[in-house]
Amino acid sequence: MAFSFTVRSTDGAARLGEFQTPHGVVQAPTFMPVGTQGVVKATRHRDLEEAGAEIILGNTYHLLLRPGDELIARRGGLHRFIGWNRPILTDSGGFQVFSLAQRRVITDEGAEFQSHLDGSRYLLTPERATDIQSRLGSDIAMVLDECLAFPATHEAAAASMTRSIQWAQRCRRRLLELQAGPVAGVTVTNPGQAQFGIVQGGVFQDLRDESAGATVDIGFEGYAMGGLSVGEPIDQMYAVVGDTVGRLPPDAPRYLMGAGTPDDLVECVARGVDMFDCVLPTRNARNGQLFTSEGRINIRNARYAEDDSPLDPRCGCYTCRHHSRAYLRHLYMAGEMTAGALNTLHNLSYYLDTMRRIRDAIAFRTFDRFRLDFFRSASRLSLDS
Ligand SMILES: [Zn+2]
Repeated sequence: MAFSFTVRSTDGAARLGEFQTPHGVVQAPTFMPVGTQGVVKATRHRDLEEAGAEIILGNTYHLLLRPGDELIARRGGLHRFIGWNRPILTDSGGFQVFSLAQRRVITDEGAEFQSHLDGSRYLLTPERATDIQSRLGSDIAMVLDECLAFPATHEAAAASMTRSIQWAQRCRRRLLELQAGPVAGVTVTNPGQAQFGIVQGGVFQDLRDESAGATVDIGFEGYAMGGLSVGEPIDQMYAVVGDTVGRLPPDAPRYLMGAGTPDDLVECVARGVDMFDCVLPTRNARNGQLFTSEGRINIRNARYAEDDSPLDPRCGCYTCRHHSRAYLRHLYMAGEMTAGALNTLHNLSYYLDTMRRIRDAIAFRTFDRFRLDFFRSASRLSLDS
């Protein structure tokens, strides 16, 4: 089945929709847990399914280095290799390569980098990023883009944005070649793979507008906004998102990469974003930072040592149904691996449940009310700060 996206209804700029992929349907707006190395850290796939995850993200950089894209292709692709039959989105690997700082050289050709594992050298070009994702066989592949550090000058952001457009053209050309017929050396494990373009341009709206126009001209199944949530003031990010969404086709999905907090999800859905991914719920969980309907909790805090209440009385996840704050604190303090698993399950359940409530609110056209209530219910507060 080929990729398609349908907007079912709207409430203001917020959209309720769904996309079809070769591995099933995803309800939008959606949050994608990050499965860096073919697994969402500290979870089993069945926990993700129970929490309501409809799509996960895989990191091309990590999978390329270990176990290798060709090994995964020989196993029939990423879905079969990891035993996850629902949709997967892969990034291009660019974000990790750019964050290597001392270990990479960027030219118009692509990014040459050294593996953080063993120092071996790789060249990631737009064509190669497309080939790797074809071998992985994700349902949605991303173009290779240049990820600019914040802050950047207008001149630097312009040069980077121009390079990203050239790379996007090369990625699209390569995907069409792969779809047109066999290309020597490249196994296509998912012929229905879609490809998303990425709008760059830093915090400069003229550059974002130019990037959006050029990316839409190339033509992709969906459009992402990259280079945000990298340290810019939050109001600036929301402003860029709001303006950029207006430059994208209304019938294509919009994906805000790498954001964010529960607040970001609500605020960017309000601006017309359909898809999110972020390591925050999983990474914070492993550090004992938990999101609840009453605010954030740091489970290490001594005040929970004899607290017999559930982590979040409004959450129906396994962790909250079975365990007290006192027990979760004990597991964390004792360094038990199960602490990471139970905490991750809860944080992901919180995120995915928030998305479900957002979708319900859009369906009932009560999203404005939901948004107000969400911020009133201490979502911004940390109970332990
Ligand atoms: Zn829970």
